Amino acid sequence: MNRFGIHYAYWGDQWEVDMCERVRLAADAGFDVLEVTPPAYMTNLEKDKMDQLKKCAQDHGIEMSFCIGFPRSKDMASSDLETRKAGIEHSKRMIEAVHYMGGKILSGILYSWWPYLYEKPLTIQDKLDCWKRGVESVQEVIPLAEDYGITYAIEMVNRFEQFVVNNVEEGKRFCQEIGSPNAKLLLDVFHANIEEDSIPDAIRSAGPLLAHIHISENNRRLPGTGKNIPWEEIAKALKEIDFQGRIVLEPFVAAGGPVGNDLRIWRNLDGDVSKEARHKNLKRSLKFVRELMG
Ligand code: MN
Repeated sequence: MNRFGIHYAYWGDQWEVDMCERVRLAADAGFDVLEVTPPAYMTNLEKDKMDQLKKCAQDHGIEMSFCIGFPRSKDMASSDLETRKAGIEHSKRMIEAVHYMGGKILSGILYSWWPYLYEKPLTIQDKLDCWKRGVESVQEVIPLAEDYGITYAIEMVNRFEQFVVNNVEEGKRFCQEIGSPNAKLLLDVFHANIEEDSIPDAIRSAGPLLAHIHISENNRRLPGTGKNIPWEEIAKALKEIDFQGRIVLEPFVAAGGPVGNDLRIWRNLDGDVSKEARHKNLKRSLKFVRELMG
């Protein structure tokens, strides 16, 4: 039975939020999982706050999954040695925080930085160099993930947001080069819709390497609101590979604020983006995906 999750930032426009409130909202909407970007305090291991959040999640029967795009200052693929070292340390602290919180998966752009800014022209050689350094950096941190039994899932994102790992074919190769059973893949339907020939085929190709999935419509709206994404075929492909990971909704529907800006949401995608409307629409979307994939 697949577990269904929702990204914590869905309801608002801020990355910094009262996480326990989001736990309550996720539980109220009927989710099993809240996807959390480990906030700054987690990296500092401020245990009181972490304990509170852990208890809040337990009280509401919510599992937390963890996802993050590393900031530029912690780019594990950087040509600058100090930046790379900072990224490696950051990644280790994240793994420790996830372990402390009882989490089983850390996913995202855990090999470079996000959202990438194309400030100067890049070449294929830049990509190859970053790829190599990214693999080597992950190899330094993944033993810790192995020790804790935490899956380290590489998110493949579209070419406009990153350039190192864009599709499943590259993701598989990246994992192979890392060479750890804990190195797996996060496929995000929004990104795959841009990079793959066929999303269902990409899911089949990822097979047992697929640990985690993000779902939204092609424009980041809630699943079930659009007509471009082949949801039924995606559900079929997930069944075919006996996908046991978490299915996490990652919709973003409103312009503005740190969330809208980072996600490049430049117009409201829903008519009513009040918190109440978002919550109501979310319940409808969860019903849609549960009926299809549950
Ligand atoms: Mn994603």
